[in-house]
Amino acid sequence: MIGVRFTCQPGCTSCCDLQGFVYLSEEDLVRAAGFLGLDPAEFENRYVYRTRRLIRLRKPAGRQCHFLIDGGCSIHQAKPTQCRLFPFWPELLESARAWERTARRCPGIGKGNLIQIGTAHETASEMKRAYPSMYEE
Ligand code: SF4
Ligand code: SF4
Repeated sequence: MIGVRFTCQPGCTSCCDLQGFVYLSEEDLVRAAGFLGLDPAEFENRYVYRTRRLIRLRKPAGRQCHFLIDGGCSIHQAKPTQCRLFPFWPELLESARAWERTARRCPGIGKGNLIQIGTAHETASEMKRAYPSMYEE
């Protein structure tokens, strides 16, 4: 790939319904808690599942994310890094097949100006900084 086209489409929440977990960095947790006016410990108590290596949002029964409401993400201004960067994730940019598969679920892929692949990878590198244990070699 020499570049990718992507423009998030207004009103779409398709990526919030994808299978998988929403991971948080420690900074994501503190930011989301602050946005909701909660103490980080209280936010964690209500919404977070933490292992030794990873922090992720718990899933409510029958839905992918607590924060997905009719109009979109209810913590949009403070949403976790992986939500903010999607679809610029290393694992999607590094595989043409994964990118094409994601395009079937994300109507923003293929739209808008061409983004140089180096720029896209630079954006995606924030994922590796936010979630180092997920990208260990
Ligand atoms: S699926 Fe794509 S177009 Fe839809 S909200 Fe997510 S990033 Fe935007
Ligand atoms: S935190 Fe917001 S953007 Fe991320 S999956 Fe949940 S509703 Fe979607």
